[in-house]
Amino acid sequence: SEELLYQSEKLSAVGQLAAGIAHEIRNPLTSLKGFLQLIQMSGEGKQEYFDIMNSEFARIEQILNELLILSKPQTSAKAVCSLNSLLDHIVTLLNTQAIIKNIYIYIEEETEDLRIRCISNQIKQVFMNFIKNAIEAMDNGKITVCLKKEKTFAVVEIIDEGCGIPESMLSRVGEPFFTTKEKGTGLGLMVSYQIIEDHDGDIEVESTEGVGTKFTIRLPLYLEDC
Ligand code: ADP
Ligand code: MG
Repeated sequence: SEELLYQSEKLSAVGQLAAGIAHEIRNPLTSLKGFLQLIQMSGEGKQEYFDIMNSEFARIEQILNELLILSKPQTSAKAVCSLNSLLDHIVTLLNTQAIIKNIYIYIEEETEDLRIRCISNQIKQVFMNFIKNAIEAMDNGKITVCLKKEKTFAVVEIIDEGCGIPESMLSRVGEPFFTTKEKGTGLGLMVSYQIIEDHDGDIEVESTEGVGTKFTIRLPLYLEDC
């Protein structure tokens, strides 16, 4: 089954709000963590309580970090970058994580350097999210990252051999906080959809339970004016 996800502009305002809130929460959180460490150092209190508090802090930080990706950097101007090298870079970063699980990531580049105009940190994060999800969905096997050109778009397919997404859940994937993982945040895809939309692209998903999942990300090519 196939579904075209998210093309609303409402999401953009929500994303900015989420990033703003995440930013505001970060300072008091840092302060709280400092005081927690002071109490811990003073030797008062039970170690198991500290352990719980520290892991809860880590959880909050994980959520904030995912949302902060949505806040535009100071220099939010988009720059032209090569999607080929961006993908190479991300795959290199994630390869160690994959190999531990006996997963091999293949990049298939059908074409010459495909360039897009983007906030590269955001686009990197998007592909990190998709490939990480693919790794998390598998115990072993192959992930294919396929890059091609379609008219004026760069198309990236991320194909895994993982658990797949049940048809009944397909429409919920990408909803804020929707996760099927014990330690998931359910924010990765929401953030990714938001960023791709901000870059005038779109995302499609096809999945078969027990067989695998394919995410297709389309981004407008940077076309030099001659
Ligand atoms: P998280 O990874 O924290 O759970 P995401 O927003 O990245 O949050 O993903 C939301 C949910 O979508 C996941 O919990 C999982 O159920 C489903 N999902 C996403 N990508 C895949 C995939 N490649 N294979 C199977 N399920 C997936
Ligand atoms: Mg994820």
